Amino acid sequence: MSSIPSIPSTSSIPSASAVAGAGSGANASASVGSTTPPYAPDQTAAVTATASAGVLKEYISFDDMGLNEQVLRGVYSFGFEKPSPIQQRAIVPMMQGRDLLAQAQSGTGKTGTFIIGGISNINTELNEVQMVVIVPTRELADQITKVALGIGSFVGLRVHTATGGPPVQEDLAVLHQSRSKAAHVPHLLVVTPGRFYDLLNRKAVSPATIRVLVMDEADQMLEARFREQIHCILALGWPTTTQVALLSATMIPELAAVAKSLLRDPVEILLEAEQVSLEGIRQYYVEMEREDMKLETLCDLYDHLSIQQANIFVNTRAKAEWLAENMRKRGFDLNYIHGEMDVEERRRRMDDFRLGKCRVLISTDLLARGIDVHQVSLVINYELPIQRENYIHRIGRSGRYGRKGASINLITERERRAQLEIESFYGKKILDLPADLHIM
Ligand code: AMP
Repeated sequence: MSSIPSIPSTSSIPSASAVAGAGSGANASASVGSTTPPYAPDQTAAVTATASAGVLKEYISFDDMGLNEQVLRGVYSFGFEKPSPIQQRAIVPMMQGRDLLAQAQSGTGKTGTFIIGGISNINTELNEVQMVVIVPTRELADQITKVALGIGSFVGLRVHTATGGPPVQEDLAVLHQSRSKAAHVPHLLVVTPGRFYDLLNRKAVSPATIRVLVMDEADQMLEARFREQIHCILALGWPTTTQVALLSATMIPELAAVAKSLLRDPVEILLEAEQVSLEGIRQYYVEMEREDMKLETLCDLYDHLSIQQANIFVNTRAKAEWLAENMRKRGFDLNYIHGEMDVEERRRRMDDFRLGKCRVLISTDLLARGIDVHQVSLVINYELPIQRENYIHRIGRSGRYGRKGASINLITERERRAQLEIESFYGKKILDLPADLHIM
């Protein structure tokens, strides 16, 4: 079996049959105007799109895309009426088997893009895993699974979510069914990198049957935590028939290098994510002398603001727990979530937040990316993020899919400098919170 070229690896992982410059990403591009507000169905985004074969055609209706009738039913029944700009450009090329490189962040409709495009290329009559979506967190995996089950409901799509936490035996039991005749093997696997690598090593999934490989939040997956596993996975020798889609909020150099060697003549959708996603979001700060004054300030804010749902971001697990405890002591009903928490508990708390049973959720940056809670109208940065890029992921959540939102940074004098850096990085002014607090 021939392999697509392996990626240049910064780790010590053996790289198989590297072929320099095999990708032709450089001659295919599409860009979305950097001042475009986040997509909303009734907005006309200024988008220019090109690919190696010329300008990418836009499909302004799902009806015109030539989708399988049952997929189309799934799309409409899931509540999508009109494709978002990325969906208008990327679904059809994906259906045609093209590789995809998309710089798009949560809120643009990227999940719908790779789910609709991807499941159009698999055969649900077959009893094997044919599509894999690799994601960095359990929460994102759950969210994508829900979209896939919804859109794929009429084609009989079977989806399995496999992430760290639950015993791998549970995944093996589901995936190994292929050995029995009456099997119901999932067609789509939504998986975190470590678990996927484990499943590949155990031969529970074979690259040979994978027709569509999607890596979501690809920049995050090339960070230290996952880098080695991702390079191992990509170096496994994927068939040339495997279509690859990389989606990422930012285009870091390492990702560009991965894309260049991994993707073949990809369609590229480039979206100036930072500036796009801060549109429509009013950013404020409250400065105080000392860190220990933040708690009182936060309580004051709560008394004054009429909030539907709010996220409070902190940087550490300990701070999340401490803040939750102290807010509760003061009579506020809220919850917290962090990455070191038992996955079932995390899931339960996330569900409560999604369903509105819990109005305020304190979180570490675990939640900063990709978690879709429609009602979130306010994000409070109790601490500024350690990684500047996470600022946009935290704040961007409040303006998802065209919705307006506000953010408030609680800063001490010492953090003023970091905030100035954020302002200049994103080119957006963060205002002193007005005394009348009529921001919502
Ligand atoms: P995503 O960028 O995939 O995280 O999607 C952000 C939000 O937009 C999710 O709540 C999706 O359900 C929603 N969405 C995506 N595409 C569409 C569409 N074409 N019409 C309506 N809602 C959509």
